[in-house]
Amino acid sequence: MDFALHDQHVHSSFSSDSKQELSFYIDKAIELGCKYYITTDHLDFNINDSHIDWIADYKEQRKYLDFLKKTKYKDNDIELLLGIEVGYKTKDNLDYQDRINKILNDNDFDLINLSVHDYKDVDFYFYDNYEKYGLDEIMKIYFNMELDAINEMDFDCLCHIDYAFKTIKMNNNDVKIDKYEDYLIRIFKSLIEKDKALEINTKVQEAINDDEHVRYLLRLYKKCGGKLLTLSSDAHELKRYESNFDYYKQIIKEEGFDYLCYFVRRKRYLYKI
Ligand SMILES: [Zn+2]
Ligand SMILES: [Zn+2]
Repeated sequence: MDFALHDQHVHSSFSSDSKQELSFYIDKAIELGCKYYITTDHLDFNINDSHIDWIADYKEQRKYLDFLKKTKYKDNDIELLLGIEVGYKTKDNLDYQDRINKILNDNDFDLINLSVHDYKDVDFYFYDNYEKYGLDEIMKIYFNMELDAINEMDFDCLCHIDYAFKTIKMNNNDVKIDKYEDYLIRIFKSLIEKDKALEINTKVQEAINDDEHVRYLLRLYKKCGGKLLTLSSDAHELKRYESNFDYYKQIIKEEGFDYLCYFVRRKRYLYKI
C-alpha cells in the first residue's frame, strides 16, 4: 500500500476522559503518511466510574473536522473522518439503547466501534467489586454482555475483547484467557456470522504484556474462521497514537493474517500488511 494505515480507536478532547486537542493527532497521522485520520470519541451513558453521561457533540465535531480540512489541512492529502466508541448498555437499562440508536442515526459516522465498559456497580476498568462477584462470575457477566452487544447493536468493530480480563491480570492474577475459551469461541462466531471486525487494542496488549495472550486470541479467531481485524491504540493522548503498531502488526502477520481492515463511511476496506 502506498499509504500508512491510520489508527481507528482514538480519543480527543471531545471525550470526557481525554484532554488531547485532535489536530495534534492529525499532524501525527500526516507525518506517518496516513491517508485518513479518524476520531472515535466516547458515547457512554451513566458511566459507572462517575455516573455521568459521556456524550460528545458529534455534530460540532464533524463541523470542526470539516473546518480543519478546509483551512489548516487544505493542502494535505488526508481525509478527516468521524467515528464513535459506543459503550454498550443492556436493554433493561432505562432507554439508553434508544438514545444510542438515535445518535447513531442522526450522525453519518464513518466507523462505529462497540465496547463493553461497565455493569451495574462494576466498572471493568477498575478492580473494585471484582472480588465481590468473584472473578469467574465477572468474566461470565462481561462475555455475556459482549454477546448481547453483538446481537443487539448496530456497529462495525468490536473493541478490546479482553478489557475486563486485563483488569484481573493487572491485579497480579496469573489466570490465562484460554480458561474462557468457550465464551471466546461464541463471541468470535457471532462476529463472523454478523460480518463484523475484531479489534486488537494495543493499550490492552501493553497492559497484559504477554505475546502468547494475543497470539492465542489471534489463533483462536482464525480457527473459528475470522478474517477481519483492526489494529488500534485506544490513544487518549498524542504520544500513544499508533502505539506499538509495527510490533503487533508483525505478530498478526506471523499468526497468518495478511490484511487489516479500515472503515470509511461505514464501508470496509482491506489493507495489506
Ligand atoms: Zn473502550
Ligand atoms: Zn476507547
